[in-house]
Amino acid sequence: MEHVKCLIIGSGPAGYTAAIYASRANLSPVLYEGPQAGGQLTTTTEVENFPGYPDGVEPFQMMDDMRRQAERFGTEIRSGIVTKVDFSVSPKHVWVEDTEELTADTVIIATGASAKYLGLPSEKEYKGRGVSACATCDGFFYRKKTVAVVGGGDTACEEALYLSGLCQKVYLIVRKPYLRASEIMQKRVREAENIEILFEHNTLQLTGEGKVEGADLVFRKGEADERQVHIDINGFFLAIGHHPNSDVFKDYVQTDEQGYIITQPGTPLTNVEGVFAAGDVADPHYRQAITAAASGCKAAIEAEKYLKR
Ligand code: NDP
Repeated sequence: MEHVKCLIIGSGPAGYTAAIYASRANLSPVLYEGPQAGGQLTTTTEVENFPGYPDGVEPFQMMDDMRRQAERFGTEIRSGIVTKVDFSVSPKHVWVEDTEELTADTVIIATGASAKYLGLPSEKEYKGRGVSACATCDGFFYRKKTVAVVGGGDTACEEALYLSGLCQKVYLIVRKPYLRASEIMQKRVREAENIEILFEHNTLQLTGEGKVEGADLVFRKGEADERQVHIDINGFFLAIGHHPNSDVFKDYVQTDEQGYIITQPGTPLTNVEGVFAAGDVADPHYRQAITAAASGCKAAIEAEKYLKR
């Protein structure tokens, strides 16, 4: 059976940064890319807030740069999805695609999170062309335009407020007759002059020629006063929650009630010795490429320290 010193699972900014640091520390890391090579970032159109790219960069280019940097120092990058682990033994056992089994002294989990989508066919059609799940990443492209945010929680309110500072108008599409966000966020949203809350509305479909130009909504579906509403928008932002990609590890690694891996505050240390978590899979708050990269760096440094011990 193949044995590795440092196994990295995931190929977003956290995984690749961990790989750069681990390979420079001679840990000969092996990295499995997972189902979405390059991670969540590759679903956005352009990255303008990652330091070092003054003119912005295409996400695929940036992830390819990170990948080549990791390879340059000797990381072995493989395609494949980790489907099963056993962290009760040392070294840890990991299965790829249920069949290939390997053992690892240290494991860095950098599997990220996946934004939840409504499941409309038109969401897929317009992904990257008006549909986004990250206002901080993509909001800038909608300056002085009209956008909609879906959701009634803290994330939706935060995204709507962020976008209200950039856009001419923001619709907040909420399926219930109330917001579930914290009082303070609700107050801020209600006080923002250019945010219009559409309570009891659900999205039926997005419309537009090659990009989002509008949305068909339904008000109070199934009720006597049900009616269809059309709004003209340039951007459609999902803020209905994220799934941290932690299911495979849950039998061993502690997670919170949403599934985010719990780490010791300010560190990538999980409850399992030799297993570290970096990036969005352990971060319900910031979810930025730069914060993920930073935590990947910390995870590799901790893996090295663990191996030395
Ligand atoms: P939440 O689960 O709190 O809210 C999700 C929202 O999306 C709800 O309003 C929900 O509606 C709505 N929703 C879910 N599915 C659909 C659907 N299919 N169609 C339409 N609407 C849908 O997720 P958040 O990401 O907002 O927050 C997650 C956690 O993170 C929360 O605990 C939150 O407090 C926290 N958080 C804290 C922040 C802060 O403190 N600054 C910032 C961001 C998040 P419904 O209400 O009807 O279920």
